[in-house]
Amino acid sequence: MHATDSLKKALSQAAQNPVYTNYPMSKVCSYRMGGPAKYFCAPANTEAFRACLLLCHQHQIPYIVLGSGANLLFRDTGFQGVVLSTKKINYFTSSNKGDVRVGAGLPVAALTEQTLACALADFEWASGLPGTIGGGVFMNAKCYGHSFSDIVEEVQTLTPSGEERTFSQPECRFAYKNSIFQHNQHIIMNIRLKLVPGTLYAIQQKTEEILKDRKNKGQFLFPSAGCVYKNDYNVGTPSGTLIETCGLKGHQIGGIRVSEQHANFLVNTGKGCTQDLLDLMQVIEAKVWEKHHVRLQPEIHIVP
Ligand SMILES: Cc1cc2nc3c(=O)[nH]c(=O)nc-3n(C[C@H](O)[C@H](O)[C@H](O)COP(=O)(O)OP(=O)(O)OC[C@H]3O[C@@H](n4cnc5c(N)ncnc54)[C@H](O)[C@@H]3O)c2cc1C
Repeated sequence: MHATDSLKKALSQAAQNPVYTNYPMSKVCSYRMGGPAKYFCAPANTEAFRACLLLCHQHQIPYIVLGSGANLLFRDTGFQGVVLSTKKINYFTSSNKGDVRVGAGLPVAALTEQTLACALADFEWASGLPGTIGGGVFMNAKCYGHSFSDIVEEVQTLTPSGEERTFSQPECRFAYKNSIFQHNQHIIMNIRLKLVPGTLYAIQQKTEEILKDRKNKGQFLFPSAGCVYKNDYNVGTPSGTLIETCGLKGHQIGGIRVSEQHANFLVNTGKGCTQDLLDLMQVIEAKVWEKHHVRLQPEIHIVP
């Protein structure tokens, strides 16, 4: 049997699910671009994740974890390794007191629905935020004055060698758009959240208000990964304003354009590729440095 075929078979057994070869990452990333991954699979459970990790280690193949791809981008040349999707780790349980346990791959939108159904408050702020809960914890995603660090109680992970670890809230070392998981290569598997019982009508109103605001801001008109750059609170001016005051709104390279609505959104007009985005980012970073003497820090994760 060809080496690629035997590895595919072994991976599929480990993942307890099908494995796809040369799978286009443009299909799974919100930017709708990025070349193919050599292998793509969604391990069925924690054991399956562990088995896949051990296999990757044994064969010395690089791997990357994918939530929903709302902040992750692959090069046009693709990825010569395994993309492990968390989408099958998507359970939800809750007590009526607001103790919520979820799998890392549960979409934020699904948790919004569940919290509505259970009349649990304190998650309305995440309405319309693309991504999974695991991705949100990894990024410490933030919007409307709240971030995941406000609601996380505990996170269970797998280390790269497959051991299970538990992190209390302080051990997650949350900071602005940052967490320990961006530095320790653990895979987030299970998350315990603390929400509070609320009134269905009030939760519904707030959820709809925030979703409407996102839609009114044109966030879903074109494929993107949201804001490309973090804000630097020491600078005091949002990155979008720094870009806008360089006269870059509407500036386009290939198929990627600086959004007219929000200059920190670099949108795919339809035929954009990752290289177009990287070229546009280079222009933006140079202009912002020239005019404001600020080094912009990317928020999106681009797989090397
Ligand atoms: C239209 C739009 C609007 C957005 N608005 C906002 C906003 O208001 N605020 C904000 O903060 N972000 C925003 N984003 C970005 C995005 O929604 C968040 O960063 C989100 O948390 C990404 O989650 P994900 O599951 O898609 O992660 P992915 O994009 O799949 O992954 C992001 C990173 O997390 C890692 N990762 C994912 N899951 C795990 C896991 N289980 N274990 C370990 N590592 C993992 C990946 O390897 C990658 O490095 C927006 C994006 C879009 C497209």
